[in-house]
Amino acid sequence: MNSDLQKLIELQEVDSRIAALKAEVAALPKQVQQIEAKLAGSKARIESTQAAMKADDSARRKYDSEIQDQQQKISKYRDQSLNVKTNDEYRALLHEIQFAESQIRTLEDKILEIMVATDSRKDALKQAEAALKADTAANEKEKDHARQQTAEDEAQLAVLSAQRKELRSGINDDTLRHYDRVLKLRGSALAAVHENQMCGGCSVMLRPQPFQDLISHQQIVICDSCQRILYFIPPPPKPEEAKNAAVSEAAQEEAAQPDEAATQ
Ligand SMILES: [Zn+2]
Repeated sequence: MNSDLQKLIELQEVDSRIAALKAEVAALPKQVQQIEAKLAGSKARIESTQAAMKADDSARRKYDSEIQDQQQKISKYRDQSLNVKTNDEYRALLHEIQFAESQIRTLEDKILEIMVATDSRKDALKQAEAALKADTAANEKEKDHARQQTAEDEAQLAVLSAQRKELRSGINDDTLRHYDRVLKLRGSALAAVHENQMCGGCSVMLRPQPFQDLISHQQIVICDSCQRILYFIPPPPKPEEAKNAAVSEAAQEEAAQPDEAATQ
């Protein structure tokens, strides 16, 4: 094979690995950011649950003291009822006592509601705290992983960059310019051509002469249609030449297929 072509094939491989590594390095901080956003969400949920519990607590204290007030009123009315002169006065005091008692029942119901709410809030808080703990551990692990992966990627990038430089220094300048231009334009600068004479990049058929030039490996051949630099991939060895028994078995199976038989 033309030595520039061999180097170009290696260069494209190195360039695509460099691009993949750079993309990975760029994506890693975003993954960490996503986990941190999730953590912030869990923390906010915990804080709002804690705030609600605190509010419940102070409401409960307020209702407790209101119950005490009502109880004091009741005992005051009872004391007064011992000294009343008329039935009307007595009935009025009894009515006040009943009203205070109904107030106490309402307050007790409110306290019960808070107690029920507190139980479910406690459960929610426990779950949120457990989730936060697990997420925090996962976050640290993910950060460690990201740091490690970044370091590994950077080291690999350094090796690949050196390989890239070395490969480029061995390739003709004009060919390199063409390679860079097509790579930038199309994302790949090389295309494989198989026995069917079709450019693997743009699927256009090669004319006979360029195809012959390509097979002979004597010179760089460029696709007229997409400008990619072409390289020829010879057909695989025929089944009877294959040494692997599995391959010939597969070929026999293929031959036994009714569809295949019908087309022959
Ligand atoms: Zn092409």
